[in-house]
Amino acid sequence: MKKCRHCGSGGEIKVSYARIWLCKDCFTSFFERKVKRTAERHRMLKGVRRLAVAISGGKDSAALLAALKRIKLDADLTPIHINLGIPGHSSECERKARELTSLLDLELHVFKLEKEGFTIGMLGETRLGRRACAACSTVKRYWLNKLARELGAQALATGHHLDDTVEVLFNAYLTGDLETIARLRPALPARGKLIARVKPLISLTSQETLEYARILGLPFTSSKCPLGRGSRSLRRRKLIDKISDEIPGFRHTLLSTHLRVFQPIAEEHTELADLRECKLCGEPSSQEVCGYCKVKSAIKGHLAS
Ligand code: SF4
Ligand code: ZN
Repeated sequence: MKKCRHCGSGGEIKVSYARIWLCKDCFTSFFERKVKRTAERHRMLKGVRRLAVAISGGKDSAALLAALKRIKLDADLTPIHINLGIPGHSSECERKARELTSLLDLELHVFKLEKEGFTIGMLGETRLGRRACAACSTVKRYWLNKLARELGAQALATGHHLDDTVEVLFNAYLTGDLETIARLRPALPARGKLIARVKPLISLTSQETLEYARILGLPFTSSKCPLGRGSRSLRRRKLIDKISDEIPGFRHTLLSTHLRVFQPIAEEHTELADLRECKLCGEPSSQEVCGYCKVKSAIKGHLAS
């Protein structure tokens, strides 16, 4: 039987890239130590009295919220959930988000997109249907930022983990997307009405996040969004998995090389677009009309036609 590397009792969780086994208790402490160290190293909570946390109903944001609560930060936690109105999916996500926050004794702020007169579920019928995820991400980014700011938060934490980050990096390096390379950091400072964004799980893998959520018995849904990402993204994930099988620690190495070497150079050579206020809604935008207002008018225009 495998032994826990830290306490010598039965090892139940394999930390593949480090080639060690840990028992459940030691794994939980290992996970939380990593979250704390990431938050400290990247000064995620500097000047933050209230931290908004994006809760999707899935395992990643469940693990994030529980870990932030258990490591006892100085900031108050404000969980936010956006109900996107995707049939057969969003109601289950909201239910799990509610169960999670009630288990952790935190008040959940829920925003239902249908209040705006449209939903992401309606996207399929429009010309944006084939790029549903891009439009949906714009909508989520917009509301999470707006609600977090209105609720008095100085930063917004999201559950992006190492696997998500490496997938984005992989694509950005393949296509030479310098702007993404420059902006992909564990913490992005506030700019005007855009509040700071932090990713405390950035150095933890998707598997570790799942193990942590399971060990703590956190409520989360495994429901897959029916508008989900295409096969290209899946193929890319599988390819990265294969590389990681051959080169243990591949994801960690790519992220640390990116942050140490390439990101600072890319940032130096990339001009951030000036931010102004959208002429329709007043939210921050690099163009006269923000991405959200464009998505909204495309869907509403389609519904009216
Ligand atoms: Fe939105 Fe795409 Fe995620 Fe579905 S899979 S919730 S459409 S980003
Ligand atoms: Zn706008």
